[in-house]
Amino acid sequence: MKSESILADSPAIVVGKRFSDFHGKLALVRCGKTGRSIIAAVVMSNSFNRSSEEEYEVSRYILRELECDQRDIEIELFSDGLFVYGTLLPKYITPYGAVHKGWGGLSMYPWVRTVVQDFKLVYSGLPYAVRSESSHLLGVTYLGISDSLERHIDSVEIGAGYIKVEVEGQVVENFPIKPTLMVRMYTCEDAKGVCVPSMLFGELFVVDNRRFSYHIDEYFDFLIGNSGILITVPHGGFYRPKNMKVKSGVEADENTFELAKLVVEKIYELSGYRIVPNAVLARIHRSIVDLNQDSLGTNSIVRDYHETIELIASRLRKVFLVDIHGMASRPEWDIEIGTRYGRTVHGNIEIVANMRDTLRRYGFKVVMDEEFIGGFTINKHSANKNVYAIQIEINRESRMLKNIDRTAKALAESILTSYLTHMR
Ligand SMILES: [Zn+2]
Repeated sequence: MKSESILADSPAIVVGKRFSDFHGKLALVRCGKTGRSIIAAVVMSNSFNRSSEEEYEVSRYILRELECDQRDIEIELFSDGLFVYGTLLPKYITPYGAVHKGWGGLSMYPWVRTVVQDFKLVYSGLPYAVRSESSHLLGVTYLGISDSLERHIDSVEIGAGYIKVEVEGQVVENFPIKPTLMVRMYTCEDAKGVCVPSMLFGELFVVDNRRFSYHIDEYFDFLIGNSGILITVPHGGFYRPKNMKVKSGVEADENTFELAKLVVEKIYELSGYRIVPNAVLARIHRSIVDLNQDSLGTNSIVRDYHETIELIASRLRKVFLVDIHGMASRPEWDIEIGTRYGRTVHGNIEIVANMRDTLRRYGFKVVMDEEFIGGFTINKHSANKNVYAIQIEINRESRMLKNIDRTAKALAESILTSYLTHMR
């Protein structure tokens, strides 16, 4: 099979002519040997000319994540699903900050985050989706639900007065394309109460009745939190808009976008639901624009990204900026912290030493200013005296989906401890 090297680093399968009648947008890719699976975007290609049986190609990223051979791969394609929000989510948060376990009946099905337009979420003891022009609602779309289960949910929801509708949903997972799905959802004619964009835990944070959620943008997402922690990720995006020029051979820092989102969530949990970090996380792929290089004068995406960081930092008295990256695995160490020899933390090297000690307790081998001493982002923003910036490089092994939760927990604890000890 010929390699579509352009998507090698991404959760994607590339399909050829045989699939041209199929309107599938997402694939569940399973390893027949281990049973492990991953959801990927389905990308059409014209470069498959042979009439071979298998006119699809699974990216190297997926094979690596599943630790699976191409020959053991099984694929299931999806173009629609059931959109849920509120209490039907696996874990949800109320607009008043209570975190609950949702109805678990869908937990065995694969799911993706999805936004539906022209609906708002109204919470009044129970969550309701109500039509509302130019509003949006973030929830989860479950794929491949059995008919009998959906009929069961129908009978409960419709019995409770909800109306079932079919609309288009935009998948907001970190994929090289932006797939849309036809989704079925339960709505309500009219309801009054508190409005929130989402009740998905990890996307909505509540402190003292103040609500914080991600702003999902074209090229990067950002979150304005309530603390001096600011997490940035320039190279974790997989999105390649069709009309933009791609530089060949440039790969993403895989899973750093996902890792950063988990770090934000875990800092919130570890702090007893008190501290919400700020975050600016790129969706755009590094082969289109490198957000960690100085092209402020020539590239508007780079400018917007750094202006957002600057705007957040300028509102805060003291900022702990953590710029997260991924490096190839190396035998000597797992994580490197860069400070340009202390310059980007204004000589306060104890901030970094504290982080290193926490990470070492988790079993990570950590070095400082060894190879990746820090790039454009931390250099630029630490020029402001209130910004203490570090660059953190995580090896590939620690970023793999099977390890990402533990790595996120270690990072969250190290960032939070360092922040509470030295930065407040
Ligand atoms: Zn990087």
